[in-house]
Amino acid sequence: MRRKITVLPGDGIGKEVTRGAIEILEAVAERYGHEFEFQYGEIGGTAIDNSGTPLPDETIELCKSSDAVLLGAVGGPKWDNQPSHLRPERGLLAIRKQLNLYANLRPISYFSSLAESSPLRKEIIEEVDFVIVRELTGGLYFGKPSERTTHEGKEAVVDTLFYQKDEIKRIIELAFELASKRKKRVTSVDKANVLESSRLWRETAEEVAAHYPEVELEHMLVDNAAMQLIRNPRQFDVMVTENMFGDILSDEASVLTGSLGMLPSASLSTEGPNLFEPIHGSAPDIAGKNIANPIAMILSAASMLRLSFGLEEEAEAVEKAVKDTLDSGARTGDIAGGQTSTLTTKEMIAEIKGAI
Ligand code: ATP
Ligand code: MG
Repeated sequence: MRRKITVLPGDGIGKEVTRGAIEILEAVAERYGHEFEFQYGEIGGTAIDNSGTPLPDETIELCKSSDAVLLGAVGGPKWDNQPSHLRPERGLLAIRKQLNLYANLRPISYFSSLAESSPLRKEIIEEVDFVIVRELTGGLYFGKPSERTTHEGKEAVVDTLFYQKDEIKRIIELAFELASKRKKRVTSVDKANVLESSRLWRETAEEVAAHYPEVELEHMLVDNAAMQLIRNPRQFDVMVTENMFGDILSDEASVLTGSLGMLPSASLSTEGPNLFEPIHGSAPDIAGKNIANPIAMILSAASMLRLSFGLEEEAEAVEKAVKDTLDSGARTGDIAGGQTSTLTTKEMIAEIKGAI
């Protein structure tokens, strides 16, 4: 198989971990006889420094001319005090919009060899394996108006939570499709006791559920969902929710299984290439030190093989290489637990590559 991949290393440890994903993909290409062509673009602070904008047009052109996009991470203290159009994070919001990335998938799974890195007791965290599906293009983040205003002569503010029914329907359908290939349970998270948008969300979930008799649908209020993630995360299979609830819950869920450095994500497009990135940020505190954990990025590449290229066997080979490497005791600092000897980013990459 021949595929073109746009690589956007971004800032901070983004540059260090994307190197890992590429080495692993090269190993996969060699072992399975594929041709992956990599083309590089800039985004975030690096793009601001080199071309005065967090998302140059050339970057979008590159992405659109490829089969999938791999993104490292953006941001860093250097750009924190810039005016808002010169913030690295703007590049992220813009690329989601421009590539029509409507769904963000975050698998949360437990690695038995990392039990000691979880804040939860082993009995609670064991065998956790679920996916959070977050709506990415609507809701409070994009609703208009969103502005400072006045009300009865006094300072006030408005943000708008806006959804079209079709946007709700497509994300819920995606959740049901995923669940039908997994443990056949969808938990739809909303705040239907308060929000009108949540009531339409709930109705739509019921309508979609009627087409998937084999999948069980449960509605859960977002405050309860936040609690259940800690009390009993094993109950979940596919959790689907709107943009802001998903942002918060997926960060909460990401710490359940240990380190941020372990978790991948996939953002699916309505039409063009999908985008794959680790859930962690640019980690300025450890950038440039060759100590970042490359696993989240490597698992994001595995997810690309599966979801964008349909290469299930290859994806599983990468996931197995990661698991075997961890089982052998290899650790970067963030997942060291009590262990004193740790690997550098490059050493961890080499171990995983060896396992493939
Ligand atoms: P953002 O706003 O981009 O999400 P953030 O500051 O919230 O950034 P991260 O950049 O992800 O979050 O960093 C949070 C903490 O987790 C930092 O202490 C960082 O060093 C650590 N961390 C994040 N990713 C990794 C990784 N891959 N390996 C090791 N440690 C990591
Ligand atoms: Mg963050």
